[in-house]
Parts: sequence; structure tokens; C-alpha cells
Amino acid sequence: MKITILGCGGSFGSPLAWQRHGNIDLLNKKNFRTRSSVLVQINKKNILIDTSPDLRNQLYDAKCTNIDAVLYSHEHSDHTSGIPDMRAMSLINKKIIPAFMPKHMIPKMESFYNYIFNGEKDYLPFMEIKELKNSFKFNNIDIETFTHNHGSIDVQTFKIGSFAYSTDLKKFYDNDIDKLKNLDLWIVGLLREDDHPAHAGFDKILEYINYIKPKKTIFTHMTALLDEVTLKSKCPKNVYPGYDGMVIDL
Ligand SMILES: [Zn+2]
Ligand SMILES: [Zn+2]
Repeated sequence: MKITILGCGGSFGSPLAWQRHGNIDLLNKKNFRTRSSVLVQINKKNILIDTSPDLRNQLYDAKCTNIDAVLYSHEHSDHTSGIPDMRAMSLINKKIIPAFMPKHMIPKMESFYNYIFNGEKDYLPFMEIKELKNSFKFNNIDIETFTHNHGSIDVQTFKIGSFAYSTDLKKFYDNDIDKLKNLDLWIVGLLREDDHPAHAGFDKILEYINYIKPKKTIFTHMTALLDEVTLKSKCPKNVYPGYDGMVIDL
């Protein structure tokens, strides 16, 4: 399995805007972060988690010309609004691409992006909505998912083999965190050092890491308040800030 972090920025990206670069060192390219999404390549299939508003450039940079399925973590715009860019993937490969999402997301996505799923005038549909199940197979690839809390809404954690992805994480429900034991890689959202109403801060995320003990943990969804080198110096062994284009082979 090959994991590519296509983007590891928070909803604004990093830097925030021209001359609004928070705490980051602009001489370090790893601090330039597009909005979060990840590409999972397994059994010759390309699975994309979330369609970031920066999707077109992310797929171009990753030299990716085919997506077999999209898994949606949640409906927030920084995780969905690049979906029109999937049209090129559909046209190039002459196929309708399945978009797996939790039930409550379906009416929202259908109303925002009706032409994508149902076609409109000269546009043929190019994606098909599939309702997420807690555990399912896509082309013989086992995918597990469960919800975690993100302030006022829920988000899906995804687990494929020994890899899991939990972006926009405030807290886990019940004993769900136990489903993340024995991971080789956990990619987890870390918005900023301090707690946020919808995102856990650095100390809380470290508590989760110390409990789960993944072999390797990589942070994603970072604002311009987190400088890559400074953050790395505070991280325990086997915990790293991600960067756009980072590739991990499992
Ligand atoms: Zn987000
Ligand atoms: Zn969110």
C-alpha cells in the first residue's frame, strides 16, 4: 500500500493569505500546505479520501490520472468542494466514479452537486453516491469506518489494513479509539497547538497517540500557526508533521 498526502493544510490552507503566514518559516517549502486529502494506492486501485478545493493541482503533482473511488470524511467545504475536478478523472477513464459518504451527507451533496450525480442538460453524471457502511469491501479491499466527534458534527475515521485516517478530530465516541490499535500508520488532524471547539489540540492528540501507539503517526490539516520544524522538535519518536506530496509505503 502506498499513501500520498496530497494536501495537509487546514481549511484556509497555509499560509492563510499573502503576508498572513502565522508562525511558519516561508523558506521551508513543507510549510506551504494545500487543503487536506490523501491518496491510497492498494491492489492497483486508487482510493481518494476527500476532494479538497485544491484537488486538480494535487492530482497533477502526484501524476495521478485515475481515481477508482472517493471516500468522504464529512461535508465541510474544505473536504468536498474540489469534487467538480473529478470530472476529468471520469472522462479520462470513461467511467462513473463511486463516492462513498455517510447517509446524512447524501441529501446535502445531491443538492449542492446535482449535475455530478444525476446529470443536467448537456452534462452526463460522472459520479455515483454510495452510502457508507461500517465495514465493506471495494474490489476486495477491506475498508472499515466509524464516526468521531468534530464539535457540532461527526466525521468518519477510515481504516484500510494497518493504515487509518482521522482528520478533523475532537474526540472519539465510547471505545472506538480501541479500533485503532495495532496500526502501522495513523494520519491524524492537528489544526493548531491549542484546543479548538471542533479540533483537539496538540496535548490531547498526543494522549490519543500514547494510547493507540501506532508505529508511525503523521499530522495533517495544519494551519499556518504550526511551523514544520518547530512542531517536529516537539514531537515524540515516530510522530511527524506531514507535508504536501509526502509518500509513505506500507
Ligand atoms: Zn477540515
Ligand atoms: Zn471539518
